[in-house]
Amino acid sequence: MSTTLRYLILSDIHANIDALDAVLEAAADEWDRVVVLGDLVGYGAEPNAVIDRVLELAPVAIIRGNHDKAACGLDTGENFNQVARYAAAWTQEQLTPEHRDFLRDLPHGPTEIDERLEICHGAPFDEDHYIFDAVDAQHALEAATRPVCVFGHTHLPVIFSAVGAQLMADVPDDDLPSLTLQAEARYLINPGSVGQPRDGDPRAAFALYLTDGVMIFRRVEYNVSEAQRRISAAGLPQALANRLAIGR
Ligand code: ZN
Repeated sequence: MSTTLRYLILSDIHANIDALDAVLEAAADEWDRVVVLGDLVGYGAEPNAVIDRVLELAPVAIIRGNHDKAACGLDTGENFNQVARYAAAWTQEQLTPEHRDFLRDLPHGPTEIDERLEICHGAPFDEDHYIFDAVDAQHALEAATRPVCVFGHTHLPVIFSAVGAQLMADVPDDDLPSLTLQAEARYLINPGSVGQPRDGDPRAAFALYLTDGVMIFRRVEYNVSEAQRRISAAGLPQALANRLAIGR
């Protein structure tokens, strides 16, 4: 008898403790292991609280994102826009020395989770590359070493699936809440962002991967106004608070 393992997949939390806690409450008792796809910090007002919470989860795999690199000084953030750069500098000041070291020591992806699954932040060939379209997806599928590659970075939930030369793109939503992984297909999957959704749906996004071959996509409401209040109180740019309400 084989035992199904259940992985909770968290990406792009972005120092949003309200969203993270809502996800953990909604997914309580539904997972055995946690994997984190990077961008724990940046944009949001609670970088230390988010890192502490993630550490409590004892993830079996965790990789860095571009904002993690900027917040711990591994990257200058010079290719960030003004708001993101301001937030990165603010985050760098807030981080405890232990948390700065923790971010600095995070490995880059891709990381293999099991025979079927690997994770990366941007793309398997470049942790900072954004996978938006079929061209990016094709390139990523060629670089992937597992049939299912789960990525973040764009904050946009998507399922690219390839059977032979045929590539399809689907958006997981209430009409497509889960995916049965086909043995003959290869996949590139973005679960969406926990802490700063950008698909027009302000609810926190996450996924569950069941090792018997199912990916489940979830959205959960959280206290957006509290996350906004924290951003305002921290003196972070108001645009970062505003966008949470519209999920953009
Ligand atoms: Zn991000």
